Amino acid sequence: MKIKNQKSNPKLQQLNYPPVVAVLGHVDHGKTTLLDAIRKTNIVQHEFGGITQKIGVSTVSVVSEGKQKRITFIDTPGHEAFIKMRSRGIDVADIGLLIISSTEEVMPQTKESIKLLLEAKIPFIVVLTKSDLPNKNPERVKQQLSKQGVMLEHYGGDIPVIEVSAITNYNIKELLDLILLVDALKNERASGSRSEFKAIVIESRLDSKAGPKATIIVKSGSVGVRDEIVCDGIVARVKSLINDRNEQLNKVETGEAIEVLGFDKVPDVGAIITKKNPNLDQAPNPERAGESRPSEQQSTLSLVLCADTLGSLEAIVNSLPKEVNIILQKTGEVTPADILFAKSVEAIVIGFNIKVKDEIVKLAGTEKVLFKNYNIIYELIDEINAVIKGKKLKVEEDVLGVASVLASFPYEKTKVLGIKVLEGRAARGDKARLMREEKIIGESKVSSLKSGKLTVSKVEKGKEAGIILTPFLDFAIGDVLTFLQ
Ligand code: GDP
Repeated sequence: MKIKNQKSNPKLQQLNYPPVVAVLGHVDHGKTTLLDAIRKTNIVQHEFGGITQKIGVSTVSVVSEGKQKRITFIDTPGHEAFIKMRSRGIDVADIGLLIISSTEEVMPQTKESIKLLLEAKIPFIVVLTKSDLPNKNPERVKQQLSKQGVMLEHYGGDIPVIEVSAITNYNIKELLDLILLVDALKNERASGSRSEFKAIVIESRLDSKAGPKATIIVKSGSVGVRDEIVCDGIVARVKSLINDRNEQLNKVETGEAIEVLGFDKVPDVGAIITKKNPNLDQAPNPERAGESRPSEQQSTLSLVLCADTLGSLEAIVNSLPKEVNIILQKTGEVTPADILFAKSVEAIVIGFNIKVKDEIVKLAGTEKVLFKNYNIIYELIDEINAVIKGKKLKVEEDVLGVASVLASFPYEKTKVLGIKVLEGRAARGDKARLMREEKIIGESKVSSLKSGKLTVSKVEKGKEAGIILTPFLDFAIGDVLTFLQ
């Protein structure tokens, strides 16, 4: 069927289906600049030049081994979409690019990207950017990568690695050839199932004039204007298909990205779109459907959630355990009103990738509202999961004891804190938080505990003791210590 199709359509055969490439990596390591360089060197200037890109995806044309080929790049790093795809059993990308600056190190978002790529089990290429800079140290990055389980070529593994510079264009063409080579070797997109249309929403928004808009990646089959499509159980008719050059198309094929108009409501990032046969993929996501969210009474944890973008917000909401009751979710920074609202409904406040003003931290402290900000989604999810699985007190701060600092004694190279336990107990191994006028001075651990001259493991309420904190904290008489698990 496919061969017949290609023979009857030589243009299609020549163009082939482009692989979809997701670009992941730590902020500032050069993702945007690399994509700009790729677009500039490979887009035929007279054809597309000067047209600003409208959607977060672009398909570039490449001449490789004498043939015209195309590659579709997802501009937005796609962490959120990646996370969602995992739960829905379909990969948004055919190939990943793990971007690391050769002047820097493996950073938290690099680690998150590695985790996502390894879990998605798609082939990926390590791209060491900024190779034009004199302070580059690609060998150090490669060694760090092998410690993270990324087995590079020439280091006993098979993951290709390439050094590039988006400023001098060094190895940009080679990178594109490498993507096509990896795709040819490792991916088998051409299969009978491609006739069945399946696409993924990677961006969505409400346009004040045009209504709900979604950018989709076609993973198999094709879709045309006026086709009936199904997204999260809701049928829509495609009104128009607009590509990254702002051109209206009648039909799009596998590997293409396109902006779709025609939805009644804004589809979720990560939603899967098909044509007919509503099957499992199209069942409304129970975690999103309001009615199947656990009621407040069943929930064990109420949350006010503030994230940087709608995409992150949706990814977090979809990954949170069912027991979590999200009282308020929004994009943007945490405001004093959010903290006070959280207090009134006994919720905790979780931020993701947002800037946090000092006054907010202070307000949360004085109002005794637990507030935490994260910048790695899986850390946020892991911690909330841990809290739900019986460690509920952790979020409420499992305070085991409170003591006041009465005296200070020099001891060897450090100082012993003379304390009186006011509440609970103090024990060796406890986490200790030093507070002064309700401000946190620092956190440490109780490494030694003495009652009189005796070394003990625990001192109860009302008793005095001498403790050593390791690492040392610069304490003062009158400070308060809380002991935590
Ligand atoms: P992103 O946050 O990963 O998208 O990173 P950007 O593409 O915004 O790049 C961060 C900074 O690194 C910018 O100042 C870029 O100009 C710079 N940069 C990116 N790629 C290169 C490169 O190949 N060489 C040099 N010298 N600078 C680069």
